[in-house]
Amino acid sequence: MVEPFPWSIATPVVATASVRVKNRESATRGRFVNRRPPSRITMPSRIPSARGASAALLAAMIVAPTPSFAQRGGRGGPDTRPEVTFPVNLPADDARIAGLKKDAMRMVDSMSTFTQQMVDMVFSFGELGMQEEETSKYLTGILEKNGFKVQRGIAGVPTAWLATWGSGKPVISLGSDVDDIPQANQKPGVGYHDPLVQGAPGHGEGHNSGVPLNITAAIAVKKIMERDHIPGTLQLWPGIAEEQMAAKAYFVRAGIFKGVDVVLFCHVGSDFGVSYGTSAQNALISAQFNFQGSSAHAAGAPWAGRSALDAVELMDVAWNFRREHLPLTQRSHYVITDGGDQPNVVPPTASVWYFFRETNSPLVQGLFALGDTIARAAAMMTSTKLASVQILGSGWSGYFSKPIAMDMFENIKQVGMPVWDDKDQTLARGIQRELGQKNPRGLSTRVPEQLPTPPRQEDLRGGGSDDIGDVSWNVPTVTLRYPANIPGLPGHNWANAIAMATPIAHKGVTAGAKAQAMTVIDLMLKPTVVAQAWDYFNNVQTKDIKYFPLMRPEDKPAIWLNKAIMDKYRPEMRKYYYDPSKYKTYLDQLGIKYPTVRDTTKAVP
Ligand SMILES: [Zn+2]
Repeated sequence: MVEPFPWSIATPVVATASVRVKNRESATRGRFVNRRPPSRITMPSRIPSARGASAALLAAMIVAPTPSFAQRGGRGGPDTRPEVTFPVNLPADDARIAGLKKDAMRMVDSMSTFTQQMVDMVFSFGELGMQEEETSKYLTGILEKNGFKVQRGIAGVPTAWLATWGSGKPVISLGSDVDDIPQANQKPGVGYHDPLVQGAPGHGEGHNSGVPLNITAAIAVKKIMERDHIPGTLQLWPGIAEEQMAAKAYFVRAGIFKGVDVVLFCHVGSDFGVSYGTSAQNALISAQFNFQGSSAHAAGAPWAGRSALDAVELMDVAWNFRREHLPLTQRSHYVITDGGDQPNVVPPTASVWYFFRETNSPLVQGLFALGDTIARAAAMMTSTKLASVQILGSGWSGYFSKPIAMDMFENIKQVGMPVWDDKDQTLARGIQRELGQKNPRGLSTRVPEQLPTPPRQEDLRGGGSDDIGDVSWNVPTVTLRYPANIPGLPGHNWANAIAMATPIAHKGVTAGAKAQAMTVIDLMLKPTVVAQAWDYFNNVQTKDIKYFPLMRPEDKPAIWLNKAIMDKYRPEMRKYYYDPSKYKTYLDQLGIKYPTVRDTTKAVP
């Protein structure tokens, strides 16, 4: 029995005159509807029952992704984005706040060894999403030792936690991701592919650095608040399984951010910055389609079997044909997670895992619904069943707070870029050369002069996603990008791991922790910033669009993800866990000369 997806939209998501969107909003407001699967492949379109959202608005977004394009005259036309005109009037720092920020910078500097140890330790754990056991145990231990109250296993996610300290308003919440990338294992400080454990996961995104940054910043601010009797609450949490977009929507559902005034998220980058308004992040639905057939001897009686793998392959073929007729903004990709056991047995089960991405949540729902329709059609063609559709993750496209971004940007400028030395630049240029870049540019040395304006809706062409999007539609949020990695790398790759337990990461995290701590001080002592952030949130960001979850009410966190991979590699990886009681740095422990680069002009294809 196939469970119908509650907000299936079987008609194309492309804007055409023939798209029919029936308004069933009035009957379904405030809840998802479970209906029996339709007997025909072409189902009547349904729009999501978004809490508080206008059905007409959502319908308009589904059929016309760029409704105001024509009025603007396209590229180069007048720029009428409302967020640009939102007046932001933030008070300047008085002498006291300026002094406290200097204290925070000094404290963060004095904690640089502590910061380095956390960055190196989490790097050495190298854990994939939902399996961040050592990482969570270690980081919560540090927070408890420093006076934070820790609640573990929040939102039904065993490796998730919430640490709090202080009391009263404002409540400032600091988050960052902690999971890593499959097959990205890599020796730090070595400018070519050289894994410690072949085939194992590794921090090929740099998620080992963000929570250490937040912990250093939070401890510095806590000391200042205690010393000066400043009221307020600090909250810290990890982005679990961010690579699968699998946890933050559940944090929102569990009410973690109820009562929070501002969320300061941070993410590793190669630059130092922050942004506001619409982001270039895509909304995402991660779904696994599980097919059920029946086995038979593949040579003796193939006619007696029904191959579930046939359904997977036909679904993929159909999707790849349909791609041509989808909007340019969509991104979609898949892996076959179960393709059968052995060739002489007709596969009775098979599964394919898709990531569907679009520029906003209604559009990504439409894209998913199309995938769902194609999966049903593939089952029909092969006389198999679509046994279940699992939602393994989801996320909105992030939208960030202009007042907070403006405030944070002033702090970033005050901190400035880390001072890189020749060794840091040699490693950066080494890996850039290794990847075939003719004129390796090394590390970024300058903070951008201006806060970037948001991309225009019509210029959005997709890219990655981050489930901080869900948080950002519930609480005023920004993402601090801190310069702890090397520019020009492919991403989700061993190359993105090489800097992440070296002085490049250590300096970048210390710089980021300063900007984060200074912004928390502003939020604690300048109520105008918080008030303006909520004004922007209520009257600009969510004026016409209200948050609704992209997962179904019955969906639960996919806590089994990556368990088999970690079970396979963890025993070998354990031998390389960092021991700060014996070694000053992880590079010292591994006996790596920093930097180790090849003198090569070899281009990697
Ligand atoms: Zn990331």
